[in-house]
Amino acid sequence: MIRILCHATAILAVACVPAVFATAANTLGTAQQTDWCKRLTPRLPDVSVATCQRSALIPTGAQSRNGFPILMRTIPAARDGKHGEPMRVLLLGGIHGDELTAAAIVFQWMQWMQSQPAQEFHWHIAPVVNPDGLLASKPQRVNANGVDLNRNFPTPGWEKDAQRYWTRVTGRDPRRFPGQSPLSEPESRWLNEEIERFRPDVIISVHAPFGVLDLDGPAKAPRRFGRLYFSRVGVYPGSLGNYGGMHKNVPVITIELPNALAMPPKAEVRRIWQDMLAWIARSVPQQPNKAAASPMQRTAGKAALTAH
Ligand SMILES: [Zn+2]
Repeated sequence: MIRILCHATAILAVACVPAVFATAANTLGTAQQTDWCKRLTPRLPDVSVATCQRSALIPTGAQSRNGFPILMRTIPAARDGKHGEPMRVLLLGGIHGDELTAAAIVFQWMQWMQSQPAQEFHWHIAPVVNPDGLLASKPQRVNANGVDLNRNFPTPGWEKDAQRYWTRVTGRDPRRFPGQSPLSEPESRWLNEEIERFRPDVIISVHAPFGVLDLDGPAKAPRRFGRLYFSRVGVYPGSLGNYGGMHKNVPVITIELPNALAMPPKAEVRRIWQDMLAWIARSVPQQPNKAAASPMQRTAGKAALTAH
């Protein structure tokens, strides 16, 4: 009998392949991961090649605009959650390539996945969503096509609102260009497909450098994670928070670290992690039937141009 291995990392679908092929695929993945770590870690504060390799990332099958692989780690829950199925958590770093700490802290947290209550959650973790921005000769917010990925999600009315916002409010700031059309970029397309496939109960997206937390969508807001306090920073056409939280009905926490280049102290890295896990366990509702998500309205906050 051929043993069948299934994993959810192949692009577009859960892949079930015979073990003999899976071994070859894993070997390829390891080599690719080593190369990936050697390229990226010189840009990541406090992340060694060894730490990156221990993170056990594997290819998603998706690539950036420049052809750099987007890697992810999937960690099933050690046991079922309170309501049967474990809580599904999608953790994202580095959607803006010049926010170096936002990718680095995800690598730090990935070393602590065996602790409670992290073990009770089903994780999908992509620490570097915008590798081209991180690897640019000078790290940049936008991807290799000059698009702010965090303005490229298909919020209703995008065609009208995103371009108008970009022109009138940002003064056509090239760092905030939303793209020619929603999901025009391979990185945002991959992320959108990943949300459709995985159907997370909560999305955590890490940014810098504004030193606050924000929440979009149906969950009770946290008061603080570590020294980061909750503060609404605004709603933007095409942002992941706007799209996920308000139109897909999935709570999206945006963590804004206080500095884009220098990591918080080790103890603070741990406190943010612990407070975040406790908030997920306590305040994120599990929705057995998320397919019937309904749009939610939230009053647009002050449109701070500087925010995530
Ligand atoms: Zn950002």
